[in-house]
Amino acid sequence: MSTIIKETNILMNIDILHNEPIFPIGTAAKLLNISVHTLRMYEREGLIIPYKKETNQRAYSKADLERIMCIRKAINESKISINGIKTIYSLIPCWDIVKCSEEDRKVCESYNSHFKPCWSFNHPNTVCEGSDCRECDVYKNNENCGDVKELIKNISGDGK
Ligand code: SF4
Repeated sequence: MSTIIKETNILMNIDILHNEPIFPIGTAAKLLNISVHTLRMYEREGLIIPYKKETNQRAYSKADLERIMCIRKAINESKISINGIKTIYSLIPCWDIVKCSEEDRKVCESYNSHFKPCWSFNHPNTVCEGSDCRECDVYKNNENCGDVKELIKNISGDGK
């Protein structure tokens, strides 16, 4: 086992608050064994929303690291492209989670498209306008790729 994997396992097992953004971008990249450039690219692509400090520096929580590990697994093992992951995230039924109105849905670019996650839109003139997507259940509750399927099962009444 490589030193980095060992360190990652040790850190991931530390009992820290799951959603506390305690890792600076350099540390997060090191723990994940990827480059800072890759982390920035995932953010630009709308796959992740890191916590932004007042200084504009990014910070990552354990939940963020788990989300990114899931993205890496989808890319490296399942051979899903970044655009493919964005499309999967776009299928998360935010309208059902947030219970937005029919009027909101008519004007919402996110509701009417399927090429990127709802949290990468600005949602003008809807209930989501100006909301902090990092804190939204649509984003927070789908940190693992498998969660998306469980969510759809639950909504369709097939969940346990
Ligand atoms: S992004 Fe917001 S307004 Fe748009 S469909 Fe989803 S919940 Fe409704």
